[in-house]
Amino acid sequence: MQFIDLAAQQARLRPQLDRAIARVLDEGQYVMGPDVARFEKQLAEFCGVKHCLSCANGTDALQLALMALGIGVGDAVFVPSFTFAATAEIAPLVGATPVFVDVLPDTFNMDPASLKRAIAQAKDDGLRPAAVIPVDLFGLAADYDAIEAICRENNLKLVGDSAQGFGASYHGRITGSIGDIATTSFFPAKPLGCYGDGGATFTNDDELAALLDSYRVHGKGHHKYFNDRVGLNSRLDTLQAAILIEKLAVYADELEARQKVAERYDAGLSNRYETPYIPQGQTSVWAQYTLKTANKAERDALMEKAKAAGIPTVIYYPMPLHQQKAYKEFPRDPKGLSVSEDLSQRVVSLPMHPYLDRETQDRIIEVVAG
Ligand SMILES: *Cc1c(COP(=O)(O)O)cnc(C)c1O
Repeated sequence: MQFIDLAAQQARLRPQLDRAIARVLDEGQYVMGPDVARFEKQLAEFCGVKHCLSCANGTDALQLALMALGIGVGDAVFVPSFTFAATAEIAPLVGATPVFVDVLPDTFNMDPASLKRAIAQAKDDGLRPAAVIPVDLFGLAADYDAIEAICRENNLKLVGDSAQGFGASYHGRITGSIGDIATTSFFPAKPLGCYGDGGATFTNDDELAALLDSYRVHGKGHHKYFNDRVGLNSRLDTLQAAILIEKLAVYADELEARQKVAERYDAGLSNRYETPYIPQGQTSVWAQYTLKTANKAERDALMEKAKAAGIPTVIYYPMPLHQQKAYKEFPRDPKGLSVSEDLSQRVVSLPMHPYLDRETQDRIIEVVAG
């Protein structure tokens, strides 16, 4: 049994993928070929945003966002601690300081009250509060209304890390269209994944779009051999864009299938464990289906039972970032990050993908609930 069954999706799309790949080979424009712009246009339309600029991966997308927003030395960038390392990693890479914020115990997303305390702490430390990067963890959008209000009060830029949540809806808006800049990743296991690395940035701001376009190609000016700023080499391969065009065509359908899988898990497991909480007015794209057990011992028992039955489970994430060797010296909410610490001991994710058939899922539920 697969945790994420990419082979089932490939089987469904194989003829289209073969044709798309053959077309790129025929055309021979491997870097910034016509499929890249085509895909960017389709993706921008999908989430209702003016500009989409693809790049080499989701981590670069975040770094490009900070570069375009002019964030650097002396700036504080607020990030949740309960996330993948890339969200925090790019702050020091541009010379800024990540400041860790706790998450909410029900949605696992950034806690606005903790963000306020972290902003005060950053000021005390002599940093300039510059940007906040909420994460749409496991496919569910962060609480953007509350976070946007805090951004306005404190003159902070908002970068939405939607590597796991691209296409989730939030009170009539879709992730990708929220924030000064939003980002996503096309790593194969993400809800919208390619066959290698890929990423994208999104913005409604023409000036930011021009900067993102420049930074992804060595800070190019009006011509690629005229360099206006120090940039990166971060482009989406034409082959990956061609593959993503085929995958985007079935993405809405796949999100519906994921929703059905989530509902079946909810029905079978909510008596036994804390199942995912989706606030009113929101949908998840279900990058993960994550249970909260009563304690670590119960999680260990669940994982052992699953393993014995050949069912893969994964802990996202076993250690919050503020406790990691690479990040433990950076500032944080002075009240502590007890929710992130607690979740790392109790969460466990079950197999989740659009091609999980009912029979297999019934078996997972039976074993996990037993
Ligand atoms: C996967 C991920 C990233 C980074 O994406 P890559 O394409 O692997 O660089 C960033 N943030 C979060 C929350 C992620 O899950």
